[in-house]
Amino acid sequence: MDMKEPFGVYIHIPFCQSKCHYCDFYSTTKRGGMSWDYVKAVGTETGRLSSLVEGRKAASIFIGGGTPSLLTPKMTASVIENCAKHLSLAGDCEITLEANPESLTDKRTKGYTLAGVNRISIGVQSLDDNSLKTLRRAHSAAKARRAVTTAMNGGFKSVSADMMFGLPDQSLSMWEDELKEVAGWGLDHLSCYQLTPEPGVLLLKKIEEGKISLPEDTLEFFDATEGLLNEKGYSHYEISNYAREGKECVHNLGYWEYRDYLGVGSSSHGMVDGMRWVNVRDPSRYISRVKASGLGKLHEEKLDEKIQWTEKLMMGLRLKRGIRFGKGEVTPEIAEMVQAGMLRLRQGRLFATSRGWRTLNSVLEQI
Ligand code: SF4
Repeated sequence: MDMKEPFGVYIHIPFCQSKCHYCDFYSTTKRGGMSWDYVKAVGTETGRLSSLVEGRKAASIFIGGGTPSLLTPKMTASVIENCAKHLSLAGDCEITLEANPESLTDKRTKGYTLAGVNRISIGVQSLDDNSLKTLRRAHSAAKARRAVTTAMNGGFKSVSADMMFGLPDQSLSMWEDELKEVAGWGLDHLSCYQLTPEPGVLLLKKIEEGKISLPEDTLEFFDATEGLLNEKGYSHYEISNYAREGKECVHNLGYWEYRDYLGVGSSSHGMVDGMRWVNVRDPSRYISRVKASGLGKLHEEKLDEKIQWTEKLMMGLRLKRGIRFGKGEVTPEIAEMVQAGMLRLRQGRLFATSRGWRTLNSVLEQI
């Protein structure tokens, strides 16, 4: 392990105001779940994990969820202070908080910046009230617009928004209109995900019952997004992510570049030196486990070199610039994809061509 290699810190806040109908992440809507006991357990676990990354700098802290904007600014400050106390933070450490429009008030925003958050990522998802209702998001389009304005005036170094396309009964022109508005806000970063309901979510049940339907051709949404955002000065640096120059998300780049990260909080996972661990899902069980042992770990496994190589490839090809790749690493399957014009190997890097990127999942399945 290179002692100079930076790492990331992911802190999971698994609480939400209500459950969105497309969501298959673990989160709980139990009132009172978000408590100082949970915050303290997160601090204790951060301290216990610190020996894994001794001598190395944290390039990023990402407080994700769930709905991290249910944390009060005081709780957020405590989480960040504990990171600073136990870990060595890089001078320019990116500290992101994910926020949902319904809980991002002016007062909280000010509190978050004072707590040390320097990047905020807002779950706007859509600017169409009917779509937001179908998805059972807890906010309206008006609230989303207000939250973005609040965040942009909040003094963060970087503001990002999450959007989703391919929504029930959404036409291409509806998506283009929303995206034009969002692109006009002047945000530093945009994530545009395709809605893909996983088995078991309520939205899928409604689709199967024929109550709603998803657009058939989502590739045209992907192409339109790229065209429109490129025109507005955003660079398409990862399959679902766009940034203004120098505003790429440092934390997520760490995942795509397969760097080490500490996972803190219930249902989080981490990876350091080829060892991956997963924490217990339930927040109460997490708190008890941390009280007893200092860690919330449920399971860990040592990843063999082949698995690490495969995962690194899968993550790296999500980036436009791809990954560093030696000619000696080319397998017959990769050679076939290069031959088919889906991948390209140039100047020691392997990356997807425009064609390969548009259908990346099927390319990845074949290699
Ligand atoms: S707010 Fe996010 S994490 Fe919570 S239920 Fe909705 S999609 Fe899932």
